[in-house]
Amino acid sequence: MNIHEYSAKELFAKFKIPIQNEIVCSTPEEVAAAADKIGLPVVVKAQVLTGGRGKAGGVKFTKTKNEAIEAANNILGMKIKNLIVKKVLVCEAAAIAKEYYVGMVNDRNTKSVLLMLSAEGGVEIEEVAKTYPEKIIKISVNPQTGLLPFQAREALFNIMTDGNEVRQAADILVKLYSLYVHSDCSLAEINPLVVDKSGKVIALDAKINFDDNALYRHKAFEELADYTEDEKLEIDAKEKGLAYVKLDGEIGCMVNGAGLAMTTMDVINLYGGTPANFLDIGGSSNPQKVIHAMEFLLNDKNVKGVMINIFGGITRCDDVARGLIEAFSKMNVNVPVVIRLSGTNAAEGRELLKGNDKLMPAETMSEAAQKIIAAIK
Ligand code: GDP
Ligand code: MN
Repeated sequence: MNIHEYSAKELFAKFKIPIQNEIVCSTPEEVAAAADKIGLPVVVKAQVLTGGRGKAGGVKFTKTKNEAIEAANNILGMKIKNLIVKKVLVCEAAAIAKEYYVGMVNDRNTKSVLLMLSAEGGVEIEEVAKTYPEKIIKISVNPQTGLLPFQAREALFNIMTDGNEVRQAADILVKLYSLYVHSDCSLAEINPLVVDKSGKVIALDAKINFDDNALYRHKAFEELADYTEDEKLEIDAKEKGLAYVKLDGEIGCMVNGAGLAMTTMDVINLYGGTPANFLDIGGSSNPQKVIHAMEFLLNDKNVKGVMINIFGGITRCDDVARGLIEAFSKMNVNVPVVIRLSGTNAAEGRELLKGNDKLMPAETMSEAAQKIIAAIK
């Protein structure tokens, strides 16, 4: 789960990581009041869950109250990468001397938190990673000791020269690591971490992702969520025991098993089709689950056909076929549906489906993909 900059900075404040004075606002009137309270100049920043706000015109430096109001008028309601800006953060403007990048992420290779540092702060770090990977320093943190101050300092001397800056930045990194672990983050970034003209180091931006699998331990984070419509669908599906991810294609997929679901999408692509989703219904023949799954597929207006791909292991194909027949008898499905049954009791399953006018059988995955692609042409 992703949270907005203003929420991330509230967490920063709790962990005593230095930030600017700032106030989150939803209207130009609130922005005017915030500018009065904070004192000019201020920076007005779009609160959307995507990077590159600066480039998109979502971050405005303003010297007068009228400029701040004008910036609020422009930014509120603006679309950045298809997300509508509903809130802005009004920040005390920092006089920037230097910009750095610092970040932490879960690293599966070392099974620890990876600390990343770069002197190329402020710009999109993904670009730096692509063009100059050597400009990002990576250090994995021993989970047993955590990030120790001397390690943070040693790491920072790779990108900074001034001892006073390093001391402040190391303190920030140690606190960020503590926040990261306590809050079960999967990513935390400060980009840019700035040194201002008085030599003070502060976090000018904040990006935090929480590990979804640990969210149950942090009930208070629930209210920080700002899910997109697609994400809401995924959460709803999860509650129904389905792993669903919406995509942009035309062929709805219903599959038992995550690996097989990935393969199904590949095979559809291979024959020139486009998958509308990833959907793993798990290993059961429960008709109610099939009905729920079909509801997700058919609610997507892009879906022109459905490919059901079942490999019977412990789940027997004849049970699945019975479940499907029962589910489809209760539903009004007006798109073609192809079903491939393979594995335990596949022949029995196919026998049961014989003569069913709602489900077109296929013996192999390739045949199923080609059949559904032809059917929607
Ligand atoms: P992002 O583009 O979404 O990453 O938004 P940021 O909060 O990182 O802001 C983008 C850039 O705007 C920063 O790298 C700074 O160069 C500039 N900026 C943001 N806040 C301030 C500020 O308080 N003072 C100054 N001078 N520049 C700022
Ligand atoms: Mn940034």
